[in-house]
Amino acid sequence: MAPQDLIAPPQPAPDVPVAPRVHIPFDNSYARLPERFYARLDPTRVASPRLIRVNRDLATLLGIDPDALETPEGVEILAGNRVAQGSEPIAQAYAGHQFGGFSPQLGDGRAILLGEVVGRDGQRRDIQLKGSGPTPFSRRGDGRAALGPVLREYLISEAMHALGLPTTRALAAVTTGETVLRDRPLPGAVFTRVAASHIRVGTFQYFAARRDMDAVRTLLDHAIARHDPAAATAENPARAFLDGVVARQAELIARWLLIGFIHGVMNTDNTTVSGETIDFGPCAFMDAYSPGTVFSSIDIQGRYAYANQPRIMQWNLARLAECLLPLLSEDADVGMASAQEALAGFVPRFQAAYLNGLRRKIGLTTEEEADTALVEDLLERMAENRADFTLTFRRLADAAADPAADPAVRTLFQDPAAYDGWVENWRSRLARDPAPPAARRAAMRATNPAFIPRNHRVEAALSAAVDRDDLAPFEELLAILARPYDDQPGREAFTHPPETVDPTYQTFCGT
Ligand code: AMP
Ligand code: MG
Repeated sequence: MAPQDLIAPPQPAPDVPVAPRVHIPFDNSYARLPERFYARLDPTRVASPRLIRVNRDLATLLGIDPDALETPEGVEILAGNRVAQGSEPIAQAYAGHQFGGFSPQLGDGRAILLGEVVGRDGQRRDIQLKGSGPTPFSRRGDGRAALGPVLREYLISEAMHALGLPTTRALAAVTTGETVLRDRPLPGAVFTRVAASHIRVGTFQYFAARRDMDAVRTLLDHAIARHDPAAATAENPARAFLDGVVARQAELIARWLLIGFIHGVMNTDNTTVSGETIDFGPCAFMDAYSPGTVFSSIDIQGRYAYANQPRIMQWNLARLAECLLPLLSEDADVGMASAQEALAGFVPRFQAAYLNGLRRKIGLTTEEEADTALVEDLLERMAENRADFTLTFRRLADAAADPAADPAVRTLFQDPAAYDGWVENWRSRLARDPAPPAARRAAMRATNPAFIPRNHRVEAALSAAVDRDDLAPFEELLAILARPYDDQPGREAFTHPPETVDPTYQTFCGT
């Protein structure tokens, strides 16, 4: 079977009218790639679109007038009832390993890439609708999204951005006026996602699995132009690109761990080559520190547990390297050696980023051999005593400046003596570190957030919106999470874990 046979023929003439007034400065490089990279089709119209929210700052960054997006015509674009001038809607082809098993064809089953814009910062980004109707890649799915998962992705991706992590972003959310059937009927919604690109490890796998090396080469050139322009003139562009992806993902996973984030579904189709976090389905932030934490209801084996994430990313990157083997060298042995060398770069890079991040979290500005043991000792005590991950580090900032703040940290440990057993070692280490106390406290507060999207808060905001049509808790939480490192007087309760931690908390895929 020829590769293009796997994609249904292009859809008939578009039935979605063009939007005459809202201007989006599209420049679509992916849609200029060969036809077998995607299926061209318009979004499917919805009954009665209603705006939930436009991310006005992000719209402005993209060169789009936020007021225009909030007009009825703008909302129709965000719902897929119209396409903006210059948009070339496509569903992208990709494959992927899901929980270790390979699917040669996944693709955008409920997402449509409207096009790309080059923002005011000179950065090229994709604008994609998610939940915009069936595509040739939908398999048995309905191509739709429910309101809860849409708001969840909005909240968590914007929180990740405010925390300073590379991530896809939320441009808008709308409701459709239609019902989607999950385990019960739910309000339908469309999410507008912005990403540096939607090129995944699985995009390379899609073509490599078909032995379509021309396409792999074309995709590589495209990805290099977007994410590693310097690799284009490197001695070995494929290797330079692979090194770049390995470096970005090693940094990203370290950042996830340092912030207590569990992605939940690290399949190769959910692993970008840009190094951005993507797909906020069953993800969650830890409350109590516990390296084995799994949230996803479908992750029965704990494959994607918190502490497994570095190992899984290495595995995913090995799948990318396999796709690139023939481009790394014409000689198979040389290519294999080059791939292994590139992949071997992951561990030292990850460990350096993770350890340096941990050092910053406990207020160290210099390096000593024993720092690893010191911080591991703290983490072990936190795990044994179910100390809240975020609050412990946030409160340590005060304790670093003044031992009078120790009780507020101690009380986070089931057995407060566990903290006492560590704090003296920490203080003697701090005494050898030159940072002045006030500067140290400020630096710790800039790296240890007060506010993360706690599961119980996210769930409360989602159920208010879905069950009571009340968006106020969503808006409030979004505003709080936009300033995660600031104290926000009156909002202290949002820094707390739930009263009684639910040990069976599970998140469900946003399908
Ligand atoms: P995800 O779990 O969101 O990463 O999606 C994995 C694959 O399933 C992708 O190919 C999606 O496009 C597809 N998919 C997920 N939900 C739906 C849906 N409701 N309708 C059609 N395809 C879907
Ligand atoms: Mg996905």
